Amino acid sequence: MRGYAATVGVAFAVAAGIAADNGFAQQAPVKRDFESEIQAALQAAKTAAEFEFLGTLARTCLLPQSGGEDTRDNVPGYVTNPASAPPRDTWYAEPARVFDNLYFVGGKVHSSWALPTKDGIILIDTIYPYNSEELIIGGMRKLGLDPKNIKYVLVSHAHGDHIGGAEMLQTRYGVRVVMGGPDWDWVAKYPNRYKTMAPKRDIVATDGMKITLGDTTVTIWLTPGHTPGTLSYTFTALDRGKPVNVAYSGGTAFNFVNNTPDPGIRNFQTYIDSQKHMAAKAASTGANVLLSNHSEFDNAFNKNRMLAGRGDGPHPYELGADWVQRYFQVMQGCARAAQLKLEQRLVETAKR
Ligand SMILES: [Zn+2]
Repeated sequence: MRGYAATVGVAFAVAAGIAADNGFAQQAPVKRDFESEIQAALQAAKTAAEFEFLGTLARTCLLPQSGGEDTRDNVPGYVTNPASAPPRDTWYAEPARVFDNLYFVGGKVHSSWALPTKDGIILIDTIYPYNSEELIIGGMRKLGLDPKNIKYVLVSHAHGDHIGGAEMLQTRYGVRVVMGGPDWDWVAKYPNRYKTMAPKRDIVATDGMKITLGDTTVTIWLTPGHTPGTLSYTFTALDRGKPVNVAYSGGTAFNFVNNTPDPGIRNFQTYIDSQKHMAAKAASTGANVLLSNHSEFDNAFNKNRMLAGRGDGPHPYELGADWVQRYFQVMQGCARAAQLKLEQRLVETAKR
């Protein structure tokens, strides 16, 4: 963080003509070529993505990002009037047993995952209030899991597409809910925004916290960026008895304030640092499976369909450690490109 600010400072000084007169300026100060730095960051992301992570590349390098802070506290339309929720055929997906002990109970767009253990079930993410009943409760029953056995619900971050079913699950089954501290605060601050979705404040996640149930442990990593309290996870699942290591990325798009250099440059740095943190945890746990909470990023919906025709072939989710690392390189490259654009703006503003 500090080194980063220093770099911007030098660029600023050069642009303002300060560095030229410091006594040792034998060579002309190097003027930063922002265009080529931005192109290099974008190219790094594209090279890392190849065909596997095109959705992540499109979302973070290509599509317009949300800019300013949303401080409105409105009840979402799909809560006020459930009939206005998107039609079922836009989100319904069949549930699937993806690994021996990891079940997909999400939809076409957003994911939810159930990890059954001998002492109950850990559920990761809860999709929307309007489809958590059918997809999570209905999906679990279809796959032979009893939702009454859910003990923990891990909410990656407090957006309506992931926290939507948490209040219902807590009220109905008395589950323990784990979320990042800043996102708990957010839920308390915006009662209308989280109407019908807000669990009572429960477990505040810390970096490295272990949620253990029976023979299974999910380790939580704090990866602020997408929201200030975004959580990511590492855990082990079994594929026909063989362990595979999962890295679960909890937040992807640039939803933070990023339309001005201050605080945009800093916010991008938080995001980049989180991706580095999670990439390091993925590497040290030997992660060879990458999961997300959007099919757009991990292709869960398509992979579940490929799984049905797997036979004796490789597991479609088992990408290998190199590809898991590439996922985090895509996010870093795109974030760096966007951050560079803000740095460029900062320097050009100073010149005027
Ligand atoms: Zn989100």
